[in-house]
Amino acid sequence: MFETLSDRLTSVFSSLRAKGRLSDADIDATCREIRIALLEADVALPVVKAFVAQVKERARGVEVSQALNPAQQVVKIVNEELIQILGGETRRLRYAKNPPSVIMLAGLQGAGKTTLAGKLARWLREQGHVPLLVACDLQRPNAVQQLQVMAERAEVAVYAPEPGNGVGDPIAVARQSLEHATRQQHDIVVIDTAGRLGIDQEMMQQAADIRAAVNPDEVLFVVDAMIGQDAVTTAQAFMDGVGFDGVVLTKLDGDARGGAALSVRHITGKPIMFASTGEKLDDFDVFHPDRMASRILD
Ligand code: GDP
Repeated sequence: MFETLSDRLTSVFSSLRAKGRLSDADIDATCREIRIALLEADVALPVVKAFVAQVKERARGVEVSQALNPAQQVVKIVNEELIQILGGETRRLRYAKNPPSVIMLAGLQGAGKTTLAGKLARWLREQGHVPLLVACDLQRPNAVQQLQVMAERAEVAVYAPEPGNGVGDPIAVARQSLEHATRQQHDIVVIDTAGRLGIDQEMMQQAADIRAAVNPDEVLFVVDAMIGQDAVTTAQAFMDGVGFDGVVLTKLDGDARGGAALSVRHITGKPIMFASTGEKLDDFDVFHPDRMASRILD
């Protein structure tokens, strides 16, 4: 992820290295190059515009500095603006005052929700919590079983409807899981919900109903970073249809251009909280905007 963007930005910066100071024309040319680099990385247009405008304004106000040459000053500005566009501060999970805390996962089918549920549960366990995974994806064949496998690998408990109990009612399962969690002294409940291949009214309604039934402390929108511009439209649809508090980017290990990662925060106003970088349970971490910016500018 981001290799092309990194390469493009590196070459933009290296062309500034020979300059003693930057004229307005230099800054305009640099900003044009940055704009093209971001568009090629599939960053959404409103995000590109806001980013470039901010870099341009700051670059024009730059004082001649003893410590940094013009290229270094532009790198510093771009780095700081990348951090801003990625959300600024690292956003940590919020827990309920009275356990169990409820985390609900929402997103399209194939986004990586079930895998993420296992990763998150294991991560929570490592932080000293006693999570319960809840299978509310009762649509996709094998989704419940897949979650059970993830739970086993993560060494956490799972709450699922009994097999053979018909299609099941995910809203009832979600509600019952909270009582089960309280009885079994789980301090965090992670609810996996059903997705569809595309944006679908019934799916949105079901997720919204689960949300209303269990009043989660965090609704996390899980999105595949490899779907490019579609990540932005999907995020907007989930924002309108279900609402969410934070974003999880999955498949950041893919060799895509990374525009989704750079767009979704600015477009939705919601922080990216976790990043998933592979199929293994430990290919997962808290999302740090500053580290991601450094990775892009590496
Ligand atoms: P769900 O339909 O949203 O529950 O998605 P799944 O959890 O079933 O994931 C869909 C596919 O993506 C599976 O084959 C996962 O192994 C794979 N997957 C999930 N997260 C990642 C990731 O971060 N990187 C890669 N490369 N694959 C992932």
